[in-house]
Amino acid sequence: MPSPDLPLLAWALWYAAIGIPIFPCFGLHLDRTCSCPKGGACGRDAGKHPLTEHGFKDATTNAVIIAAWWDRWPRANIGAATGHVSDVLDIDGMDLETWQQTTGFWPPSTWRARTGSGGEHLHLQPAPGLGNGVKRLPFADTRAAGGYVLLPPSGHRTGRRYEWIIPPGAVPLASWPADLLAALLPPARPAPSLAPRPAGIVTTVPASLTRWAERGAALGQQTHAAFWLACRLRQHGADEHEGWAILERFAAACVPPADLTKLARIWRDSSKYQGYEPGRELAQSLTLVHRGATLPSAAYRVGRPI
Ligand SMILES: [Zn+2]
Repeated sequence: MPSPDLPLLAWALWYAAIGIPIFPCFGLHLDRTCSCPKGGACGRDAGKHPLTEHGFKDATTNAVIIAAWWDRWPRANIGAATGHVSDVLDIDGMDLETWQQTTGFWPPSTWRARTGSGGEHLHLQPAPGLGNGVKRLPFADTRAAGGYVLLPPSGHRTGRRYEWIIPPGAVPLASWPADLLAALLPPARPAPSLAPRPAGIVTTVPASLTRWAERGAALGQQTHAAFWLACRLRQHGADEHEGWAILERFAAACVPPADLTKLARIWRDSSKYQGYEPGRELAQSLTLVHRGATLPSAAYRVGRPI
């Protein structure tokens, strides 16, 4: 591990050498304001947001690229893309021991850093599906694939620096304890299920609309198409059972299949727009959807007066 006095570049190169993908974040001026154009107005984000266009997606272990970044921005903070070498459990507002006693979870010995705000980052082996979550447990956030954290000795607007309590190499990187992981994973989202449709209800939905639904829509057009479909189903008096059954067929026909949880929300929201009559422009757009053209989003506004 480099000495804490060494320039940030030395640290960035060390992280890259042990496989952690790195990218630069805005640093702090001596008066602790952010070096981004917002400066003193940057607030809680100060020193925490990316200097490169694509942020954590630019993260690399390539020493040449890293050297060029810190040559250009010597005071840049060190961002690390999470979900590659490690996920991070971010405990803030409570020390680790109190957190352990409060939640009953006792993370194993692993890499630990003190954050600039006085919280702790616990690094653990990446767990599939964990994602970036906020407060699924008290005082705890997670950073995983698609997220990033700052690494020591990045600066913080409080004037403190991030510092290792247990640095990489001092102990093996632990994996998530199963009970802690289960508590932090996003809740499973089962598709809505309905009681069987009561017998004897006469359908009023035109076959043409059902056929339309059964052709599905391409990714990027599913939300618009689903909302239009949901509103038309309502217009034609489809009840909860029938409308949802047709939307399920729409979902299955989509490529890739549409997300049922999202569709359920659209179906629910559509009940507020029962008089919704799509304009000619939209009707034409939706015809084009089936010819593979892009649906112009401007043609479709949920908030359109009805
Ligand atoms: Zn800033």
